Amino acid sequence: MRRRDWITSVGCFGLAATAPIAASGQNAPPLSVVTSFSILQDLIEQVGKNRIVVRSLIGVDGHAHAFEPRPSHVQSFGQAQMVVLNGLRYEPWADRLIKSANFKGRVLTVSDGIPEPLQATKTGRPDTDPDPHAWQNPRNVIHYVQGIADALCDLDPAAKDHYRRSEQAYLTELRELDQWIELQFLPLSSAQRRVITSHQAFAYFAQRYQIEFLAPQGISSESRPSAKTVARLISQIKSERIKAVFLEHLTDGRLLQQIAKDTGVRVGPSLYVEALTAPGKGAETYLQMMRHNTLALVAGMQAS
Ligand SMILES: [Zn+2]
Repeated sequence: MRRRDWITSVGCFGLAATAPIAASGQNAPPLSVVTSFSILQDLIEQVGKNRIVVRSLIGVDGHAHAFEPRPSHVQSFGQAQMVVLNGLRYEPWADRLIKSANFKGRVLTVSDGIPEPLQATKTGRPDTDPDPHAWQNPRNVIHYVQGIADALCDLDPAAKDHYRRSEQAYLTELRELDQWIELQFLPLSSAQRRVITSHQAFAYFAQRYQIEFLAPQGISSESRPSAKTVARLISQIKSERIKAVFLEHLTDGRLLQQIAKDTGVRVGPSLYVEALTAPGKGAETYLQMMRHNTLALVAGMQAS
């Protein structure tokens, strides 16, 4: 079997080619995969490249915490052979949707078995919910990608070499990303390594790179903080001389803008957490998203 046609070149920041191309010498249709959100779509495409077709239920610039499945989402399952979910209660609607779609294929939960799942915290109080944003640590994404590659090899053994080759190339990029992020924060003192963001989505990033994120909202960006929480945050910003506040893409930033005004701190560029962006907006892939966030955070923290 010749595999020449499966190889696509993907640069460091390149988007994977997603148009299905039948492998030369055979007529195997591409694998059909459904996933919950755009970041997972990118990871699956990085491994499957042109051997698979991936549909994401929540598209680019889509808000996962506000997602409510509609009948049209049931149709998205079509002839899919696999559904890929994040898990850690990020997709509380998934079980019912999978049932409604009468989906009988494989369900892969990529966060299963990550080395250190974190609990969600709300204003410092330990919470019983897991923190779902595990992809904010590239080391967890390495685990995600290995699971995706194993599943694709299982479902489509004829293309095993193709999947393993793109898996290895992408894992190298993820390891380089992890080292690159670590290097960017290296010049910053521990006093500089603190910022304020709009919702607590950065615990995994914080733990990996020793950054302190203070967030006035709880784990879901839908929840509203109490006046007492806001007042406590304002006094903390003043007493600890925090200089950088970051708004999150897709989140109502009025509260943070008010806090910034009251305290005189600088508002940095949007950080991308839950979704990739449409082409040309700076976070079209997971690698781009993480580099964007890192450079924005470093610039904000250097000002302090
Ligand atoms: Zn979130």
